[in-house]
Amino acid sequence: MGPETGARSAEALGLGRHLRLTIPSVSARVSFESLASTLVRMIASGSAVTRAELVRETGLARSSVTDALLQLEEAGITQYVGTLAMTGRGRPAEAIGLSPDFGVIMVADLGVRRARLSVHDVGQNLLRHMDFAADIFRGPDIVKAELVEAFTAMLRDLGRETDRRLVLVLGLPGPVDTTRGVAVKPPIMPGWDDFPIASRLGEELGCPVLCENDVNLRALGEARALDPSQSPLLYIKVSTGIGGGLVTSRGELYHGADGAAGDIGHIRVSGVDDVHCACGNFGCIEAVASAPAILRQVLDGGEAPELAGGTTEDLYGALRANNRVVVGTVRDAASRLGEVVANLVHFYNPARIVVGGGMTVPSDDMLAGIRAVVYHRALPLATRNLVITKPVLGEWSGIAGGVVLGTEYALTPEGIASALREVDGRGRARR
Ligand SMILES: [Zn+2]
Repeated sequence: MGPETGARSAEALGLGRHLRLTIPSVSARVSFESLASTLVRMIASGSAVTRAELVRETGLARSSVTDALLQLEEAGITQYVGTLAMTGRGRPAEAIGLSPDFGVIMVADLGVRRARLSVHDVGQNLLRHMDFAADIFRGPDIVKAELVEAFTAMLRDLGRETDRRLVLVLGLPGPVDTTRGVAVKPPIMPGWDDFPIASRLGEELGCPVLCENDVNLRALGEARALDPSQSPLLYIKVSTGIGGGLVTSRGELYHGADGAAGDIGHIRVSGVDDVHCACGNFGCIEAVASAPAILRQVLDGGEAPELAGGTTEDLYGALRANNRVVVGTVRDAASRLGEVVANLVHFYNPARIVVGGGMTVPSDDMLAGIRAVVYHRALPLATRNLVITKPVLGEWSGIAGGVVLGTEYALTPEGIASALREVDGRGRARR
């Protein structure tokens, strides 16, 4: 292990921990690009950062690893970043890092009202980030223009305008067809259905764009920041909408056949058949337990006139202030959501359920309400080791998931091959 490297990167990311990457195993027969991909993923995830560690982790001959490292260094993909003190009598080992010149990874985590954007290098270092109010209701053209402007400004501020842009990972608060890079009939994103957001952004920013559901990104970020024993992991986001994301025991996102897996907001609950949902159906859990639904119930009850005309931000404020009526309504909503979650526990048997989103920030009432019902309703075998908790990365989970997806994309054998071709081209141009 290279604790120094790990701590340095994780600290820079602002997350306090290093994100695990999927690392394909290799044999002596694989192509150079495949071997290089495995080595750089180990380095990027901090799991092996010296030649000796890479030899041990890959199980390959020292000469094969040495050759590959030499080529990677000559191509400007890796570099020596310092020495690690060895325990025992060994000499200090040279620590290998990814070159900052390899390129940048961009992540945009879009909520309904807020966006968090960030720029990273392939070593998981956070170079820059910004939050801004981004109203998804204004439609994809305006949001796209804002994203292009914001990323261009961030890269300019970093002095990295001309750096290779490896990939942009875009999280959207609705169902996403990840293959085509579009939102599909998103109930709370008018104008976004089938809009080719990934290709349009890609044209303007000059890089590939990966679209993913925002809750899936959060689930992935949490799972990869934690020990593998904490997966399967189910992330439930409760804010303007309600969504779920599932990471398998292998640490990978579960999309289902069409990408709709985990879209739990439109599961029907009993006793609220007359409540209309934005999706067009009646009785969805989102229509009774999301922040706007809770606000509406509080106002309908007439016992909190101070919230009349208020927004969900005002609702969060009242919850923070322990407003009796609001707390009661949140607890009721949490119980209903808890029944849905108890069913999911029987179906998925997750090791960990993470409850996040705006509704969970001002107080623990939502979390406590869900927890109480799940432990009461679900069978002992499914809850024996089940952890139901807040996100360890707070509101950074989505960005972390984007870093994982973006880094793994950039460090595929194809990504390495393209970097090598570029270096080769530049070398020939110089000659
Ligand atoms: Zn619905």
